[in-house]
Amino acid sequence: AQSGQLVSLNPATGEVLGRYPVFDSRKIQTCIAQAQERFQEYRWIPFAQRAAWMERVAEILLERKAEFGRLITLEMGKTLASAIAEVEKSAWVCRYYAETAAGFLAEQLVASDASCSGIRYQPLGVILAVMPWNFPFWQVFRCAAPALMAGNTLLLKHASNVPQSALCLEAIFREAGFPQGVFQTLLISAAQVAEVVADERVRGAALTGSEAAGSSLARLAGQHLKKTVLELGGSDPFIVLPSADLEAAVSTAVTARLISNGQSCIAAKRFIVHSTIAESFTAALVERFRQLKVGDPLDPQTEVGPLATPSILQEVDGQVQALVQAGAKVWVGGSPLGGNFYLPTVLSGIPAEHPVAQQEVFGPVALLFEVPDLEAAIRLANSTPFGLGASAWTTDPNEQERLLMEIEAGSVFINGLVKSDPRLPFGGIKRSGYGRELSREGILEFVNIKTFWVK
Ligand code: NAP
Repeated sequence: AQSGQLVSLNPATGEVLGRYPVFDSRKIQTCIAQAQERFQEYRWIPFAQRAAWMERVAEILLERKAEFGRLITLEMGKTLASAIAEVEKSAWVCRYYAETAAGFLAEQLVASDASCSGIRYQPLGVILAVMPWNFPFWQVFRCAAPALMAGNTLLLKHASNVPQSALCLEAIFREAGFPQGVFQTLLISAAQVAEVVADERVRGAALTGSEAAGSSLARLAGQHLKKTVLELGGSDPFIVLPSADLEAAVSTAVTARLISNGQSCIAAKRFIVHSTIAESFTAALVERFRQLKVGDPLDPQTEVGPLATPSILQEVDGQVQALVQAGAKVWVGGSPLGGNFYLPTVLSGIPAEHPVAQQEVFGPVALLFEVPDLEAAIRLANSTPFGLGASAWTTDPNEQERLLMEIEAGSVFINGLVKSDPRLPFGGIKRSGYGRELSREGILEFVNIKTFWVK
């Protein structure tokens, strides 16, 4: 927020696309009141009706995916193809919960000393969603689809640099038929989140973003005794062992590191490679990074667009320069490219205890580490404060089992790209956060799991 305004700005060109006044306290209060009032009716609306509206949201997303994709690209700089894919995936999660919510939340009978006892799942009320800009549609839908299908109402505080996406999302829910007040966008700064969390009508909050933001929200929510779900940063490992299909591993490594121009919580960030294949893996990865086309994200040929803001670029470059100072070898890239663009970069020879090796690098920068064996790979993988999603490559079943059991992360993918999928839970451990989104686990986060007992 700059002087009471949220600014939508194209990171590829620096062009200002729009300015939006920040809500004052009175407007915030009106929105909370509306969300609370609407909840009293919305909570009793049958699943079938909610599902019909949610299906309609999915249809609108698919019908207008080119338009929404373009908006995402203009506001935060990911390539148009990846922005359109994000809109399609958002439609998927809406459909998924439209189809499954009633089953996930169906009454369960449990035998006890009562004549009849069991569990009913009821909505909590008004939920606040604090969301980041790196997947401006997907992050919101993966929170909103289960929350709304469960019967909650939602207030969205989106990242300050994507106000157009934030307003567009509210319009989509309205157009699909959801009653006014079920999904509302609050155009507010991070500092104003405190007022919303403190309000007794707000019953829970989900946040996806940095550790600092997560810890600040958790502190506030703790003070007011509200449930939270936090999806924070990661410094995810990508382990490659000798039996791996090297070509597939390299190709997935490139994709994994460059999701959202390198700005994804689950992008692979530390490539941990067994010494017997380190030379060939490095050569192939560097070759691919060298060929990447960086440029205008609206151009279909472009593979890597700009970073979303100048401060992210500065932070990434600061981390790269600190590693170079500490003796890291630059195989390719290693510097800004003008504007908000950063050269795809591969670094090796990084001291494992260097502070940057413990941090999240939010840009197109791959850090390579060489290890002598599986034990060292697992030790290094677990040596950061984070634990979000790990990818490991091996065809040996014993190694696979050890990796699945011993990696400290919310998910471990063997021989594939770490990706979220509505059917599987998603979330982290350690400083990557707590709670889960997606699947049955995700919809259970913001419900009252109510025990009933009748003699
Ligand atoms: P961020 O500051 O955590 O922003 C995420 C959301 O949290 C935004 O809506 C932001 O609002 C809000 N927020 C920030 N500080 C807050 C606070 N103290 N209380 C309540 N809400 C707060 O993330 P960022 O500035 O965009 O990026 C910083 C770093 O976060 C990145 O370098 C990366 O390490 C990490 N990150 C992780 C993810 C992920 O998906 N896990 C996504 C984005 C960023 P404003 O925009 O108004 O500040």
